[in-house]
Amino acid sequence: MAYDNNNIFAKILRGEIPCDKVYESDHALAFKDINPQAPVHCLVIPKGAYESFDDFSANATDAEMADYIRAIGVVAREAGVVESGYRILSNIGKDGHQEVPHLHVHIFGGRPLGWMIKSQEK
Ligand code: AMP
Repeated sequence: MAYDNNNIFAKILRGEIPCDKVYESDHALAFKDINPQAPVHCLVIPKGAYESFDDFSANATDAEMADYIRAIGVVAREAGVVESGYRILSNIGKDGHQEVPHLHVHIFGGRPLGWMIKSQEK
């Protein structure tokens, strides 16, 4: 499937809509989630046009990957959640319930986060 240039995070990267930016590097941008699910809820996205983690892990350059992974660590440290602990999560595709088709890692923290998946179904 082709990357959708009109997705909301592509628009944020082009500066067409605002975001509450917390960090930026050569290949990554991080901002607060507009609908936070925890006291700390940030999103880290690559600047390149990658639809999902699957796309990124297959097609990104080593430089993009290194910068992106480091950015996730920096954002968590700057948010002050390393000592108490935190969760990173990336939804992929339909079963993963990915809503925005541009790779993003969620960083959740600031409270006990409970079990990974609420559903009782296996
Ligand atoms: P996902 O289901 O993993 O694709 O999650 C998409 C996330 O993007 C949700 O947590 C939304 O609250 C968040 N989101 C959508 N639009 C924006 C926006 N304009 N700025 C910040 N976060 C957003």
